[in-house]
Amino acid sequence: MPELVDNLADLTSQKDRDALELALVSTIKDLLVPTSVAIYRGVGDRDNQRWLTCARLGPGELVPSTDSAWVNIDTLPKLAEFPLRQQAIESQQVTEQIGQTTRTVFPLAWNQDAPGVLEVTTASPLPPESRNLIAGVLRLYRNFQSLLDYGERDTLTELLNRKTFDGAFMKATVEQHKASTAEQGERRHEAGTTSYWLAMIDIDHFKRVNDTYGHLIGDEVLLLLARLMRACFRFHDQLYRFGGEEFVVLMRCSGEAEAAHALERLRLSTAGHLFPQVGHITISIGFTEVRAGDTPSGAFERADKAVYHAKAHGRN
Ligand code: GH3
Ligand code: MG
Ligand code: MG
Repeated sequence: MPELVDNLADLTSQKDRDALELALVSTIKDLLVPTSVAIYRGVGDRDNQRWLTCARLGPGELVPSTDSAWVNIDTLPKLAEFPLRQQAIESQQVTEQIGQTTRTVFPLAWNQDAPGVLEVTTASPLPPESRNLIAGVLRLYRNFQSLLDYGERDTLTELLNRKTFDGAFMKATVEQHKASTAEQGERRHEAGTTSYWLAMIDIDHFKRVNDTYGHLIGDEVLLLLARLMRACFRFHDQLYRFGGEEFVVLMRCSGEAEAAHALERLRLSTAGHLFPQVGHITISIGFTEVRAGDTPSGAFERADKAVYHAKAHGRN
């Protein structure tokens, strides 16, 4: 019992979503001592969905391992390779496969668009009390995750809000540094190196939309634009609404051409979208590479200048 309380206290002391997932697998490991325990999420485009390992504790491991958010998606296992996990997600029920070892899969609440599961591997089937214990911990985890969402997400669009940006920016620059040293170490020769890009997106003449159609319709445009953004970017790109009609994307690309291509895709899909009542709108975008030793405000200033330039040169 004291162990349970300690573990739950530890779980709910996390303020960071990734750390929360790591704490969740550690908690299950401590409480039930399974062979392994892991959280997987389905990521990628609809026609190429893969399993991303968000946190995994295997036999004898003390520290959970995790796929890098910037992993090449084609190296991850396909969704269909793990039907037990797929079933858990589709049915929203616990699924189980008994063999030499038992795998029990618990569906996790939808995290934005990425469906997730908790998978527990044990030598023998989980007794009902252990299943109940896991279900209870998962309820707590979900409640806590919604609290984090409440603090970190914009209530209208459900994109991330400004509060988490600085932390993500710093984390991204550290990840980038690690990734580039790993690439050098393995002497891999992929096309170009990867880098981080920061983009600012501002709706053109949005005031007119509000003035002509009212704030509620304006809000709907913001909501629909957020949806277009989700469809345009990849699972590891981080999408923010910074307030008003200003959106920010932090993405990792192989270079300027790839960043420009992704943003151009958003520009085109926005200009081509028919917004109910309003018709067509356009956006102006400024983007910049995140540099070594950059600060969020430094990078913003450059992207902002680029937006200003776009606004002064015809918008869209
Ligand atoms: P520009 O092309 O130069 O960007 O012109 P603009 O009209 O988009 O820019 P401006 O910054 O003058 O106006 C932004 C408008 O966004 C002002 C305000 O009415 C509107 N706005 C800000 N926040 C919200 C919101 O949460 N909901 C709605 N509906 N409108 C908002
Ligand atoms: Mg603006
Ligand atoms: Mg604007």
